[in-house]
Amino acid sequence: ANELAVHSAIYAGDQLPLLPEFVGLKAYLAAGGYEVLQKVRAGSLDAVDIADHALAAGLRGLGGAGFPTGTKWKIVHDLPGPKYLTVNGDEGEPGTFKDRYHLERDPHRMLEGALIAAHAIGAERIYLYMRDEYPAVLAILKAEIALLRECGVITTIDIELRRGAGAYICGEESAMIESIEGKRGLPRHRPPYIAQVGLFGRPTLNHNVETLFWLRDIIEKGSDWFAAQGRRGHKGFRSFSVSGRVKNPGVKEAPAGVTMNELIEEFCGGMEDGHTFKAYLPGGASGGILPALLGDEPLDFGTLEKHGCFIGSHAVLVFSDRDNMRDVALNLMRFFKHESCGQCTPCRSGTEKMVSLLTEKTWDRDKIADLDEVMRSASICGLGQAAPNPVASVLKFFPEEFDQ
Ligand code: SF4
Repeated sequence: ANELAVHSAIYAGDQLPLLPEFVGLKAYLAAGGYEVLQKVRAGSLDAVDIADHALAAGLRGLGGAGFPTGTKWKIVHDLPGPKYLTVNGDEGEPGTFKDRYHLERDPHRMLEGALIAAHAIGAERIYLYMRDEYPAVLAILKAEIALLRECGVITTIDIELRRGAGAYICGEESAMIESIEGKRGLPRHRPPYIAQVGLFGRPTLNHNVETLFWLRDIIEKGSDWFAAQGRRGHKGFRSFSVSGRVKNPGVKEAPAGVTMNELIEEFCGGMEDGHTFKAYLPGGASGGILPALLGDEPLDFGTLEKHGCFIGSHAVLVFSDRDNMRDVALNLMRFFKHESCGQCTPCRSGTEKMVSLLTEKTWDRDKIADLDEVMRSASICGLGQAAPNPVASVLKFFPEEFDQ
């Protein structure tokens, strides 16, 4: 009743979105929630212990970069304060919806992970940057964070909820930091990296929602438990956002290193009736396109680069024999053109020029290859560097579709 009263007070005056059923604070506490945080605060686990747990478990940055989590913690921990933790919930990669899935069901798992990480590195404050297109998530987080303050779970390290404004580029960590600082979301040149010079010029640890989501389980059940979940030598679980021509799309918690064929057959109920598996995007818009004959490659960080692709945030889009890969590449390039922040010429003009080349009846391979090289080598950030990936994939794997 108390929880409901607090909710009503917090929600009063707000335009309420329809809220999904989720594990609220009371249920989360009843299931042992925040006990790991208490242990960490009591000193039974120090920063190095937690970082070692994360390293042994094989926990990596699940926003797309895949950097080993424990290593990042140690870097920021050793730098002088004030320091900050930022949580990137600006889930804008086309086809990615895993963070929304977790936050609409079990928000405290991420919040506990964030409080543990912030305590471990000695952060003064947590900035939670959520995309505004997720109104239910924002309402849930606002209310649950207020409850945490009421109940005394949030003590010295507070959590500040910030809303994004729909720019894809603000999912790039340095652009997100600019946005939190109240500026236009333009990616920064690196070095220095945000671990050294981040939010408000201070050392900053940035994590994706899902990375923090797994932390409680890893400490509670052990790093060996998490590491053992993978297949083919890969470690842990991954939340794959699967969409496209499969019978049961959605978020699939599957072992790291699972193959595309396994994901379709074991987790998605197979292809839709009347559709034959033809190709897939392994990592959203920027991770390239792979043909079905590479459906037995393990899906994880470092496994797809030899084909010019990457797994990124594990947004998997499945295409069938009814889909044209040339259309897919053009569609994705239009998306990049629209979302380019415009700061650097290779990306701002490159994406525009590439769209015009791809709309010509016959693709000019030489011009496309030249532009591809310029964009990859001279763009400031990952958007411009990776934007040519889908086109390069079509040229490599679907040459028969060039001139259609
Ligand atoms: Fe902006 Fe594109 Fe340059 Fe990145 S690569 S800074 S998105 S113009």
